[in-house]
Amino acid sequence: MPHHPLTDSHGRRVDYLRLSVIDRCNLRCSYCMPAEGMRFAPRRELLTDDDILFVLQEAAALGFTRLRITGGEPLLRPGLAQLVARITTETPFDAPALTTNGLLLAEQAEALAAAGLSRVNVSIDSLRPDRYAVITRNGLIDKVWRGIEAATAAGLGPIHINTVLLEGFNEDEVEGWLALARSNPFTVRFLELMPVGEGAELTRHGRFANLSAMRDRLVATHQLVPCASDGFGPARTWQQPGATGSVGFITPLSHGYCDSCTRFRLTAVGELRACLADDRQVSVREAVLGRDRAALREGFVEAARTKIVGHAWNVDSVTRTGMSELGG
Ligand code: SAM
Ligand code: SF4
Repeated sequence: MPHHPLTDSHGRRVDYLRLSVIDRCNLRCSYCMPAEGMRFAPRRELLTDDDILFVLQEAAALGFTRLRITGGEPLLRPGLAQLVARITTETPFDAPALTTNGLLLAEQAEALAAAGLSRVNVSIDSLRPDRYAVITRNGLIDKVWRGIEAATAAGLGPIHINTVLLEGFNEDEVEGWLALARSNPFTVRFLELMPVGEGAELTRHGRFANLSAMRDRLVATHQLVPCASDGFGPARTWQQPGATGSVGFITPLSHGYCDSCTRFRLTAVGELRACLADDRQVSVREAVLGRDRAALREGFVEAARTKIVGHAWNVDSVTRTGMSELGG
């Protein structure tokens, strides 16, 4: 049992940490980053492996039990496998998961699996190489599929695939994804476009696709049934009759899930975010660098106090900070 389980001011236990280990990326997905002009934290300002372990020890004491490593592109962080090995051996987080664009996965999957990584989510926004190149601004989709193969071979499967569906761009690919999930053990999770950073710009240009409506339609046309084991995340997963894999719908705008949100995010430079839809943050950077456990704990408690229920994204509120900084 944690010494001081962290509960927010709405009674939700906070127990899931999304840890960004770098804010840089080797892609420029158009709903996430501008094509040019991104400003990244100088590398010397990223929390070190020791800093991260210090935070995780405290997070565990506060009752956090689940950890996901993200970014920017986490596989760009030098020595990520060593960090994962230290996390799994030196902290109670013995099964961290990873969200990645997959471009560097073929090279790193084996080392990550050996280090104790448990699961991988790979983001792919189109099955079509030409569209993938457009949305990512020149990404090579073949490399990503090779990464997925390597991760599966290394024992990191079944792989979850995240795909942001955009109105008038790739929402017509949903049938293709369903076919993929019929014959492969993937969980394909359809994400609604969120008005975060560049995502707000695309929302203004009419790219938001309502995935609750899409889900209701697909439940009827494809006889989707809810999976018995639904995991903890916001993606309700569904299965087609006789399918090997499953599909999920992440619908923060059309069907919110704030009531069951148990997440915190920690940026790569040491800022705690209690909600993706709220630009407020609590810096624990000084507490971490000074190894001040009490101040770090106070930072977590303060962030929990500010955690909101219900966001205004549906009205006209946007999150100014970009998703690559927040970790998704
Ligand atoms: N680079 C890694 C990747 O792409 O998986 C990890 C970081 S990325 C910020 C995490 C997730 O956030 C990805 O699945 C991405 O598609 C999603 N994402 C980024 N911006 C988004 C937006 N505006 N709306 C919805 N999802 C978004
Ligand atoms: Fe990079 Fe991931 Fe953002 Fe795409 S979604 S630009 S891969 S951080």
